[in-house]
Amino acid sequence: MTVSIHETHLQEVHAHATHGYLHSIESGAAVDGPGMRFVFFMAGCLFRCLYCHNPDTWKLHNGQKVTVKDLVREVHGYAGFLKNSGGVTFSGGEPMMQAEFVGKTAHAIKKRFGLHIALDTQGYLHGNVPDEWFDDFDLIMLDIKHINPDRYKALTAQPLQPTLDFAERLARLGKTMRVRYVLVPGWSDAPDEVAGMADYVAHLRDDLGADIEMIELLPFHQLGVSKWDQLGMTYQLRDLRAPTPAETEAARDIFRSRAFTVT
Ligand code: SF4
Repeated sequence: MTVSIHETHLQEVHAHATHGYLHSIESGAAVDGPGMRFVFFMAGCLFRCLYCHNPDTWKLHNGQKVTVKDLVREVHGYAGFLKNSGGVTFSGGEPMMQAEFVGKTAHAIKKRFGLHIALDTQGYLHGNVPDEWFDDFDLIMLDIKHINPDRYKALTAQPLQPTLDFAERLARLGKTMRVRYVLVPGWSDAPDEVAGMADYVAHLRDDLGADIEMIELLPFHQLGVSKWDQLGMTYQLRDLRAPTPAETEAARDIFRSRAFTVT
């Protein structure tokens, strides 16, 4: 019998509901949500993005085994500060790889400290959780890596449709979203590709009523290359240049022309 990647993941989730696997923590991040963020980088990701700058997060069991209480304790000393100036973000890797554990931890942090909680995800595994799972998250930062299904698959090794289904689900749920788009020269920076993405996000907003707080357009960079080398993996984008500031601004303007706030 063939066990699908989806079924395998579900078995993982249920086997590890009482504990999770944490890659690392950043206690003062300024880029992973509004204000200052306390970020949990969860281990595990089913994607294989060519430009991934955290390939060391891919394997679930390479992370540190932790409980909900452990993570609540980590936040405790910062909670007073975060209450007024930011919040907690679950990132990765892909935090929905450990949906049950992350949901329980977010719930415990929300209940105990009342903090703003954000989820940084590509959304692929959203079908594993019920609508109520999102109740403790104030902001979903949805990473849509390309709007063309073939290019998306080439870039990430996974299909696009689950992520689009998730975006439409978030619109239905009325969740506040930020859409993240990585500008990769030769991969996702052609004006028609950026315009296709901008049109899709405008459709989410204008036709489906999605609450799009802003677009985060992130220029590709080479900061993760040493991790690929350390892991002995072939980094295919080694010779790719970063977009120039002018190219990045031109892409941002494509979103701005559709009345989005862009950073
Ligand atoms: S989804 Fe994120 S963590 Fe996973 S491979 Fe892509 S960039 Fe890396």
